Amino acid sequence: MLQDSMNSQGDRDMTLKGKTAVITGSNSGIGLGIAHEMAKAGADVVINSFTDRDEDHALAKEIAEQHGVTVRYIKADMSKGDECRALIEKAGACDILVNNAGIQHVAPIDEFPVEKWDAIIAINLSSAYHTTAAALPLMRKAGWGRVVNIASAHGLTASPYKSAYVAAKHGIVGMTKVVALETAKEPITANAICPGYVLTPLVEAQIPDTMEKYGMGREEVIEKVMLERQPSKEFATVEQLGGTAVFLCSDAASQITGTTISVDGGWTAL
Ligand code: NAD
Repeated sequence: MLQDSMNSQGDRDMTLKGKTAVITGSNSGIGLGIAHEMAKAGADVVINSFTDRDEDHALAKEIAEQHGVTVRYIKADMSKGDECRALIEKAGACDILVNNAGIQHVAPIDEFPVEKWDAIIAINLSSAYHTTAAALPLMRKAGWGRVVNIASAHGLTASPYKSAYVAAKHGIVGMTKVVALETAKEPITANAICPGYVLTPLVEAQIPDTMEKYGMGREEVIEKVMLERQPSKEFATVEQLGGTAVFLCSDAASQITGTTISVDGGWTAL
């Protein structure tokens, strides 16, 4: 459960008060964790997914009430370039853009369905091109901007059977560097966060197949397959990912641009 945090004086940390954060793919998992942490830091937030259910709007209301900021839910399908751009247009302001929407599919490359390849590249990579292109003019107008791309340990390393995912995540790390260089002389930064394993619905969905593939139980899959590459032997939490995103938007990080921050319990140090 996400807790509201107060500093030692009992004041709410309002580092991002007055900023609007647009977070793609944020009605669950890491995106939702980032939405809570941005709201906790005082930002007004736009959460997003491709659905338009009562519960999506209720989620926005819940975050708003919990943290005392404005939160809107805007439906937009990140597999479609025009909807990516429309999301930013409908948001009206975008001081902080978090490109988080992502999906995964696991199969050997010679059996990888082309429609899965196209969808993964569209949602995990091309969406960030569209949202960034639409958001930069708003950031320039506001005189301040932060682009935070949620890549992966798979943006720096590879695993078999994840060709499209690994390609998209390496791609977004590269694109982050380009955006950083193109905005280097402006009060805008662009960075990528590379999580290791975080126990979200995306990872939960991989567990049953992996159990079947290796003939293992759930705990064995977690320990011997998932956390095997993560030296800390612990999942990172969505709150920790949110905290890292808030740090990248803070004044302390204003000279950090074009880089990646790994939140992977030591995975990429191996
Ligand atoms: P998740 O499945 O919980 O969340 C994915 C989010 O993307 C959901 O809100 C979903 O609604 C949204 N989404 C999916 N397709 C969309 C579309 N077409 N349009 C708009 N939104 C869409 O997964 P997660 O683990 O929280 O993943 C979030 C990001 O973190 C992804 O980019 C993922 O690759 C990355 N990541 C996750 C892990 C992990 O271990 N969980 C590790 C490294 C990187």
